Amino acid sequence: MNCALSVLQIFKVKVCAKQFLSQSFVRLTFSSERVKEMAVYGPDQWIKLLFDNLSGQHFSVPEEFDGYRYFLSLNKADRPRLRSYTLREFRLQQGEFDIDFVLHSGSNCASLWALEAAVGDHIYIRAHCVGSNRARAGFVWSPPKQVQQLLLVADETALPAALSIIDSLSRQPEKPLVNAFFSVPSASDCLLSPTWPQLHIHWLTRGDSSTADANDEILTALNNLALPHLAADHSTVQSLENTDKLWQLASSCAGDNFYAWIGGERTMVDALRRLLLTTKGIDKKLISFMAYWRRGKAAQ
Ligand SMILES: Cc1cc2nc3c(=O)[nH]c(=O)nc-3n(C[C@H](O)[C@H](O)[C@H](O)COP(=O)(O)OP(=O)(O)OC[C@H]3O[C@@H](n4cnc5c(N)ncnc54)[C@H](O)[C@@H]3O)c2cc1C
Repeated sequence: MNCALSVLQIFKVKVCAKQFLSQSFVRLTFSSERVKEMAVYGPDQWIKLLFDNLSGQHFSVPEEFDGYRYFLSLNKADRPRLRSYTLREFRLQQGEFDIDFVLHSGSNCASLWALEAAVGDHIYIRAHCVGSNRARAGFVWSPPKQVQQLLLVADETALPAALSIIDSLSRQPEKPLVNAFFSVPSASDCLLSPTWPQLHIHWLTRGDSSTADANDEILTALNNLALPHLAADHSTVQSLENTDKLWQLASSCAGDNFYAWIGGERTMVDALRRLLLTTKGIDKKLISFMAYWRRGKAAQ
């Protein structure tokens, strides 16, 4: 297999450990020799997991086929359902990685599969492999080099990525000022993270609150946060065109010393986009907004 020729690969991994972390999270550890071919470019690196297609057919690659080519050879309707998940921890030497799955109700494939998965089960993944095109290689986190102040906002689906970002910052010799706002269903979901004096994690537990109330709570918390004047672009009124776009990514450059990464349910991300770009007047090139999922809509 020559990975240098191919951006994406599809191959099978085995569940080798399972741990319930909290009320909403279960961690599965996956292993395969082929994990050693994977390219991990950023702490928020994600992959796709492949589930039964809409007719309930299980995806399996015949032995003589290359996984990705076989996937492409199928009619679109026959292809497996793909779901995005973050590599919470990646251990190259051991050929292993962890994924923290949110357990949610409703008809779905990924969350239910994770709940029922047992050690020894297999699943196919689609991952970027060594030799892939870094510009499009499944990650977003790319703060400017000398950044001094960071803002992270995540709901539970983006929490694995946000905590992985915090892990990576904790390994830097000079740690930046970080304000993190994490909205999670219950107090047990406030997962452990490294600490340093300039890391301020604000946990918002939703309990029985409605989505609207929970969004209001996070908007109020952020509205009260003193954001750096240097981030504010007061010279232009920024338009909010393209609001149907699920993702809007930062394009910051060296010398910018503020950077924000915002991931979660679409209505939360949209509300924060309005707050930060209009009310707070922060330059949109400094913020990545990512709608990781949409309430009432299955991922595509
Ligand atoms: C780049 C990226 C990285 C991601 N990383 C992670 C991760 O590490 N861990 C993780 O758990 N999720 C992660 N997600 C989110 C995950 O892909 C979605 O939540 C996905 O919809 C789950 O698939 P499903 O089959 O369980 O539900 P779907 O079949 O997609 O949806 C079925 C129904 O469930 C609802 N639904 C979907 N997710 C949730 C939820 N979390 N809570 C309540 N209702 C929900 C949908 O709105 C829909 O009504 C990530 C998404 C992206 C884009």
